[in-house]
Amino acid sequence: MSSIYEKYEPVIGLEVHAQMKTKTKAFCGCPADFHAPPNSNVCPVCLGHPGVLPVLNKELIDFAIRMGLATKCSIRENTLFARKNYFYPDLSKGYQITQFETPLCYDGLVNIRLKDRSVKRIGITRIHIEEDAGKSIHDFSDDDTLVDFNRCGVPLIEIVSEPDMNSSDEAHRYLYKIRQILVYLGINDGNLEEGSMRCDANISVRLKGDSKLGTRTEIKNLNSFKNVVDAIEAEIKRQADLIEAGEKVSYHTMTYNAKDKTTSHTRSKEEAHDYRYFPEPDLVRLHVSSEQIEKVREILPEPPDERSERFIFQYSLTETEAEEITSEKPLADFFESIVDQLKKKDDKTFKTSANIFRVDVKRVLNEEKIDISTFHLSPAVLANLADSVSEGTISASASREVFTELLAAKDASEQSKLFGELENKYRQVSGESEIEEIVKSVLSENKDEVERYKSGEKKLAGFFVGKVMQASKGKANPKIVNELLIKNLEVKL
Ligand code: ADP
Ligand code: MG
Ligand code: ZN
Repeated sequence: MSSIYEKYEPVIGLEVHAQMKTKTKAFCGCPADFHAPPNSNVCPVCLGHPGVLPVLNKELIDFAIRMGLATKCSIRENTLFARKNYFYPDLSKGYQITQFETPLCYDGLVNIRLKDRSVKRIGITRIHIEEDAGKSIHDFSDDDTLVDFNRCGVPLIEIVSEPDMNSSDEAHRYLYKIRQILVYLGINDGNLEEGSMRCDANISVRLKGDSKLGTRTEIKNLNSFKNVVDAIEAEIKRQADLIEAGEKVSYHTMTYNAKDKTTSHTRSKEEAHDYRYFPEPDLVRLHVSSEQIEKVREILPEPPDERSERFIFQYSLTETEAEEITSEKPLADFFESIVDQLKKKDDKTFKTSANIFRVDVKRVLNEEKIDISTFHLSPAVLANLADSVSEGTISASASREVFTELLAAKDASEQSKLFGELENKYRQVSGESEIEEIVKSVLSENKDEVERYKSGEKKLAGFFVGKVMQASKGKANPKIVNELLIKNLEVKL
């Protein structure tokens, strides 16, 4: 951005709505799966027929507490539900049940890693439970709008951050972290594009150095990482331009138009902000006991940051390695299943396992565009490979070949049998006399390079190592190759 924007500091707070993967909806027994044929998962309760009574889903409370614990929130013992009243064609009930003054979880935090690798703490103001509305479908025909009530009553949690982010990049990293935690906990499928996560971005700008917050605007319903970043950028620019022109930013809800990358005010009708909240008369106060909270804590899957810390400590991985491997739970699970099956559980073998995983396995996942659940080599055979490299039976470079050849084997037993054969085929040659023979023949076949080396072109050392490794089909122990090359080249000086 050019200089006029540089004097402004953006301030951003995000509200993330995440659909919970409970079996049933928030207040009735309908399946929570809204992918079913339109209007098939509905009943008088979620359609809001007169006289029906909601019954709170216990699994939903547990899921919300999971997110609260994973983000270090306090959990409120007594919660009141509230009715949020508004009219919308896809909300047949005329209100949503939500939590207003007493969110279930409050005062938490997540840590995000910034571009310069420093860690920034983002406060979580609150996490509360609410129900989703239905869905209006406008693009089915030009003249009609259709409505699907399957989503009515689908459980959501809303995660509200403190205004702690200061760039679109930080907002992106925060959203990524929230999604990562939700998916790790098994309570959300992390799919922004399909709407199982939605994000509202609150943005203000102020002069750098000012401590008072500027007036915010709120961009509703962003449904991809790219749109979150682009919308925030556009809004920062719009607000700074307004102030530069001597005008004031006033509170509005905004929509983002991805086509021309601009933000604009929503129609004022939708902005009528009086939801007339009042305590939901059909539900009693929710009491969460400390025993219930402890029960959730006991079965809480290890959140990604904790797992990454543990990997650094337990397997002596670097921060980068640990973060990469724990970026998704199935990847971390697969890696741990390799190290669990190692014969030698020492730092060197852990490191070798990490290399095989990050280089070889990841390459196949990328090339074949598959995820780890359909990767067909067993963790057991990869553990054998890591053990073998770490013991020096096969060299690190031959390990690449073994890995590639292993890919041809189908099931685990075929893989383990083939591994035995490949280990023999690629067994590292460490016998000095055998290697020296190869070294000598390489030197005599490359007399020109030897001369150039001797007259000072020391970088040719790499060329000779390559030739020897090639001639040994990757089996020569590189350390011994180096020693013997130096010995044979220097001797004739
Ligand atoms: P509402 O429902 O009116 O949007 P919430 O409390 O749910 O209110 O959300 C407010 C969000 O706006 C929070 O994420 C908060 O961090 C953020 N926010 C509040 N003030 C500012 C500000 N001046 N600039 C940017 N973000 C802000
Ligand atoms: Mg809001
Ligand atoms: Zn229902």
